[in-house]
Amino acid sequence: MAADARAICRNVSEPRLELVPVGVGSALPAPGGAQSAYLVRAGATAVVMDLGSGTLSLLQTHIAPEDVDVLFITHLHPDHCVDLMTLRIHMMWGPGAGRRMRVIGPPGLRERLAAFTESDAWDVAFAFEDFAPGAGEYDLGDGLTVRHREVPHLPPTNALRLERGGASLCFGADCAPGTELSELAAGCDVLVAECTFGPGAPMPGVPHLTAREAGEIAARAGVGRLLLVHCSPEHDPDLTLAAAREAYDGPVDWARPGEPVRL
Ligand SMILES: [Zn+2]
Repeated sequence: MAADARAICRNVSEPRLELVPVGVGSALPAPGGAQSAYLVRAGATAVVMDLGSGTLSLLQTHIAPEDVDVLFITHLHPDHCVDLMTLRIHMMWGPGAGRRMRVIGPPGLRERLAAFTESDAWDVAFAFEDFAPGAGEYDLGDGLTVRHREVPHLPPTNALRLERGGASLCFGADCAPGTELSELAAGCDVLVAECTFGPGAPMPGVPHLTAREAGEIAARAGVGRLLLVHCSPEHDPDLTLAAAREAYDGPVDWARPGEPVRL
């Protein structure tokens, strides 16, 4: 086969976006499970969304962490960012030494990490950027764009929408009911949504979703597929899926660690 033909075949088979759930747990992790982290490959670009407890070790089974081009942190709750403290060791004294990772997150992330580690030496290994207030967009090259939008949770929490070559996926971060996430996710191929309360009822004053509310957002947004994550481990998985299906008649499943979703 000629080199040009081989290149075309490779391009045809290469997904436009590949989502690899690394950890899908909630603030209360399941036995043997890790918290929130999602790797997305987009051509030659690798993006990670969140880096909760237990995820850095799992991430290394998919990619050398220093090869991550951009790490997005949706918000300051520890189950979404605490493994950055271990990543710092990797980037300063481990295999990532000499590299510098772009980290885009909420204002105050760097200061929070520096306080916990009692070290201000973060900028050697990381280039921190704050999300723009409310919403914004990044062009990460190779046709990949990332839009962010604040959603109702710990202020500010940003959900993310990634698009490349007509494929689109949205990660809802942690989120309470509202119109923000369905607006960001409108028409996307895959929505990854939290369902902390599973098939149960919402807890007043606790800004998370039931599975039914995640389904309602998926239905309102008209997404192609709903993947549930971040479910508190006491909830029955089948009842949780069923609750989401009451509100959304498209495909619903769990995002499973290590099982890639290709678009
Ligand atoms: Zn949270």
